[in-house]
Amino acid sequence: MSTIQNIAIFGATGSIGASTLDVVARHPARFRVVALTANRQVDELAELCRRHRPEYVCVADAARAPRLRERLATAGASCKVLAGEEGLVEIASLPEVDCVMAAIVGAAGLRATLAAAAAGKKLLLANKEALVVAGPVFMETVRAKRATLLPIDSEHNAIFQCLPPFASGELAAKGIRRILLTGSGGPFRARARTDLHRVTPDEACAHPNWVMGRKISVDSATMMNKGLEIIEAHWLFGAKPEQIQVVVHPQSVVHSMVEYVDGSVIAQLGHPDMRTPIAQALAYPERIDTGVPPLDLFRIGSLGFEQPDFERFPALGLAYSALRTGGAAPATLNAANEVAVAAFLEGRLPFLRITAVIEETLNAFDSGPLHTLDEVLAADARARARAGQIVARLNSNAA
Ligand code: NAD
Ligand code: MG
Repeated sequence: MSTIQNIAIFGATGSIGASTLDVVARHPARFRVVALTANRQVDELAELCRRHRPEYVCVADAARAPRLRERLATAGASCKVLAGEEGLVEIASLPEVDCVMAAIVGAAGLRATLAAAAAGKKLLLANKEALVVAGPVFMETVRAKRATLLPIDSEHNAIFQCLPPFASGELAAKGIRRILLTGSGGPFRARARTDLHRVTPDEACAHPNWVMGRKISVDSATMMNKGLEIIEAHWLFGAKPEQIQVVVHPQSVVHSMVEYVDGSVIAQLGHPDMRTPIAQALAYPERIDTGVPPLDLFRIGSLGFEQPDFERFPALGLAYSALRTGGAAPATLNAANEVAVAAFLEGRLPFLRITAVIEETLNAFDSGPLHTLDEVLAADARARARAGQIVARLNSNAA
């Protein structure tokens, strides 16, 4: 290892942000935190600045910048304060930033994440929604600007670890038959659909194996998280929809697998702890300690694998179909999901209606092409508006 890596963490106050800071703080000789960002949580952000001493800090909600300055002064942390999406974009392209952890939740992270790709950085991608909504634009930017894109999502990080290291081109040319994308099935895997009418946000967020932000926790409960990950796997690995098999694996120990034409299946295993994929990408191609305990296979005893249930989890079929349709369909799917999940978390939409909102939004639009960022943003805005109307209509029908 030669030089120290300077890291910017987008979404530092979130679940992935916390796990990243935990890994980074274990290796002060390897990593230096140069920038931290958050949406609105300025008290937490100032506390992180006190502990990790970045040179730059950015609050996306610009109205909160004065309070952040006050808090930093009280905490005795002297950082350059930036604000708004422009501040995030500025950090992404700072020459002193080597590596960006993209851990903002939702399409809200698109511009900042894309800016890191456009600046040719080492980009650690947790913000899967950015890739789902802007796949072609995103991957073209990574290619043209020679950014290094490393997946943080545990499944995609696992797949990355199971791929042959030096082959390029299509999956078939690498001897790969399929990608086996594992998913726990979330908290409602074994519950009858009729039982799910009245589930609360807290029940939906109580994931059996992972502790995560609330939006991705609801996505796991509907299995839209796996749906978004199917699309993510398409863009990251060039996998066609028929080459991606979802495998329900309730223990979340096998994080995904790659099936080769010779009959080999290579899997990556580990505790469900995001510090492992984060450290794998941070130190790549080296390996570093994370504080994650060794896997005790004797204690785990057995691993289970099941077929996904497309009737219980319609989100899976919607995601495959959006991927096959292409163009703006994945952006529409993602935007409608974000609107519906936010409405569910705010008590304005029953759990089982989340996928209904997404389906109706998808049916409302022709997919249309997606060649530019403006086209992506237009598709996203259009779908959000329509999904909002559908939520309001369902609400007034229920009243
Ligand atoms: P979280 O809700 O815990 O944190 C989100 C972070 O993004 C916070 O720091 C918040 O301040 C920031 N943020 C939110 N809205 C913003 C906006 N409009 N502008 C700027 N910043 C904003 O979420 P999380 O669970 O850490 O997930 C982050 C991303 O990582 C998501 O895309 C998620 O799908 C992905 N991911 C998370 C996990 C996990 O274990 N948590 C695993 C795999 C992938
Ligand atoms: Mg995942």
